[in-house]
Amino acid sequence: MQLVRISLAAIAIGFSAPAAAQDAKSGLDQAFADVEPKVIEWRHDIHQNPELSNREFRTAALVAEHMRTLGFDDVQTGIAHTGVVGTLVGGKPGPVVALRADMDGLPVLEQTGAPFASRARGEYNGQDVPVMHACGHDTHVAMLMGAAEVLANHRDRLSGTVKFIFQPAEEGPPAGEDGGAIMMIAEGVLDGPDAPEAIIGLHAWPGDSGTLMYRSGSFMAAADGLEIIVTGVQTHGSSPWLGVDPIYVAAQIATAIQGIPSRHLDITNSPAVITIGSIHGGVRGNIIPDRVEMAGTIRTFDTGVREELHARLRSTVNAIAEANGATAEVIIEGYAPVTGNHPALLQKMMPTLNWAAGDGNVNESTLITGAEDFSFFQERIPGLFLMLGINDPSVPRAERPSNHSPFFIAEDDAMMTGVRTLVGFALDYATAAGD
Ligand SMILES: [Zn+2]
Ligand SMILES: [Zn+2]
Repeated sequence: MQLVRISLAAIAIGFSAPAAAQDAKSGLDQAFADVEPKVIEWRHDIHQNPELSNREFRTAALVAEHMRTLGFDDVQTGIAHTGVVGTLVGGKPGPVVALRADMDGLPVLEQTGAPFASRARGEYNGQDVPVMHACGHDTHVAMLMGAAEVLANHRDRLSGTVKFIFQPAEEGPPAGEDGGAIMMIAEGVLDGPDAPEAIIGLHAWPGDSGTLMYRSGSFMAAADGLEIIVTGVQTHGSSPWLGVDPIYVAAQIATAIQGIPSRHLDITNSPAVITIGSIHGGVRGNIIPDRVEMAGTIRTFDTGVREELHARLRSTVNAIAEANGATAEVIIEGYAPVTGNHPALLQKMMPTLNWAAGDGNVNESTLITGAEDFSFFQERIPGLFLMLGINDPSVPRAERPSNHSPFFIAEDDAMMTGVRTLVGFALDYATAAGD
């Protein structure tokens, strides 16, 4: 037994020595330990000073100043309104990769009771509203600032160039404005001589603190806004045969469209959700009105399913309207395509993710019907999008507040997994096995 052990140890050393020499991440423990208190402090500050979509002025100034102080090669501000993109050129030649954090808060009244809770207010679509980082974007910004510091201080280890994308308006710009990932892309963040060939993003999520969750291929849904306008003929409520009742038609439509996912789409392949969230029509009980407006949302995980669902929705709505002598208009407005993980890139970077979170802390997730505009980056280049668990593991899953809840709050100790993931992605991408 003893002899066997010695020979195994020798083999282990023989294999691990050259691998260790190539590992750009080795010996960074002190750098991570040094940056952790700063990440926590930045996060508390950003959390206490949240800003709404397209109004991330203070946050943008903070991250731009940080990257300039770190000696970045280039820092561009004012991209897609308040976006900031920093460029860090490594000490060795190599590819360009992008790390992305979204910066905006939400019109939510914080009720976490945290010592660094927000009391901020802002204006949203003409209304005075409370503002809170209720989706964890405060942690995203702080983690990317931490990754910027570690990488800038160790750029000799870096093969290639890293673009740090601080994105505004992930939650959607205010009414009448453009913004978000699609606008940053339109303004060229993925173009030019420093065009990134791969990108990574993280999102705070009610999983166990410091764990990562992923899904190869589709992960988060494509989201489309839905509006249906039914037009009838107004008449007295006592004599419906004299008009065309759009409320009766709208009721049939609201019911029938649920048959599209459940009767017509192959839900074993890819699920879909249609929700009608509002119906408005009429002013009093004895008048049949001439118009009903319905609004909803559609979630899908596959481009083909998304197209089929849209087509069936239009034909179902129009057929029901026609059968009743009414007319209907269907307006579908895309918010974001499917977000996920490029399978080959995920496989290639899996050892890095395991290093970042620790073995056993990188877990496959179920599908998430929420959506992310990170998907627009992924339409152009391969990307990874991972959920970062932010809750005390001793709190039962059912009691953890969801994103956008006034009680949503991340544990500070979750963030170093995120910093390590971003740093690891930047350092390992050029040399990781596979393609
Ligand atoms: Zn959100
Ligand atoms: Zn979010």
